[in-house]
Amino acid sequence: MSEALDDKPKCCAQIEPYFYFPGFSSESELEPCQFSGVRKFFEVDGKHYCCFHMPMEHKDGAPTDKEDPSWSGRTSFKQGIRGALLRGFGERETVTYEVADLRGVVFPYEFGLIEALEHPVGVNPKTGDGRAHFPFLRLEWACFYGSAEFERAFFSRGAFFTNVEFRGEANFSDSEFENWVSFVGARFMELADFSANEKTPPFPSIDFRWAQFERGARFTNRRFSEPVDFWGAVFHVAPDFHGAQLHQGCTIEKAEFLDVKSLHAPSAYRTLKLAMEEMRNWDGMAKFHALEERSLRHQPGTHWFVRFVSWSYDVASEYGQSLARPLVGVIGVFYFGFLLYCFVLGLAGIKGDASLLVEVLKFDTMQMVKPFDAIISGVGITGLGPWGRFFFGIVATLQTLATAGFVTLFILAVRRRFRMA
Ligand SMILES: [Zn+2]
Repeated sequence: MSEALDDKPKCCAQIEPYFYFPGFSSESELEPCQFSGVRKFFEVDGKHYCCFHMPMEHKDGAPTDKEDPSWSGRTSFKQGIRGALLRGFGERETVTYEVADLRGVVFPYEFGLIEALEHPVGVNPKTGDGRAHFPFLRLEWACFYGSAEFERAFFSRGAFFTNVEFRGEANFSDSEFENWVSFVGARFMELADFSANEKTPPFPSIDFRWAQFERGARFTNRRFSEPVDFWGAVFHVAPDFHGAQLHQGCTIEKAEFLDVKSLHAPSAYRTLKLAMEEMRNWDGMAKFHALEERSLRHQPGTHWFVRFVSWSYDVASEYGQSLARPLVGVIGVFYFGFLLYCFVLGLAGIKGDASLLVEVLKFDTMQMVKPFDAIISGVGITGLGPWGRFFFGIVATLQTLATAGFVTLFILAVRRRFRMA
């Protein structure tokens, strides 16, 4: 059980040090709590936390008191967050302002930052439409247990959502960012909604490197006026970019798209393929073409033969993306052919020395350089009977066809990769 400790304040034990990049483990010390002046601490697993950094769960997964709506720290939590946001606006008449430092804060269920502002602290100076206006926000390593509601919010001075964990839905629909924004390493465990309408100003420089989209990402009609970086991001569900306008500096290298089964996947990837085509990004186009074909293959109602051909093309060259796979195919056919010839010779009871092996190897090679030679000019292995010749002919024909197929795929992949369209 966690308990409130009103006596001598101890240092707040924050959950994580604030690293910019995820996946870095470090021995460095935890940063001190930014909420100075806190006098009430809560004990969780032997550590003392302020109401802001207090976790929602014990190490064993059992909920702490913070999960209870009547938790004693709730009022000071709300006031403290509001205070931080107000300080972030600073003196309204001067240009000096502080950062609203909410790093590492654990937001309980049903707590929204927009509500924390209570009445419009900063009415959007451009439109005056009463939208929630946020100062320069730092939220690194924060965690939202409930849904994070930022619908129509206006972020005027940049926002750091680096490594934030969104356990509920993250709603940034129609939100407006006037300065750069970082979602590096953010984890979206439910839907991440960044959709926009035609009036929403375009996104400025936005960084989604290593972000995890676990339940879908919506960028419908969103415009990007500056580069957007998805390097290393993982999309567990095909993202929706319908109507979006990507910037030419859009980076999708190393981004992973894991969904090839949901019903909307083919159209989602087709949209991205067309966006890549517009930007003359051939590699990106090939990537989304492959994803589209792969998703189509998994749609219910697809004929088994179409499925088989599509699967074969995928295995043989990843729909024209891979240069290595067709080459491996040629070598594989050569090796497999050699084994089959030896097997047929064994069945025919022909035993020989090294010279016979050389003869088989030579025959195997001939099928690659002189297609259908075995049928046209007859099979030339010493001592083969009529049945042996027949089987050799069949295997040789299949080998020739398969080799020709792989060579064609290789040429097509080279052309696709290095063409200048
Ligand atoms: Zn703290």
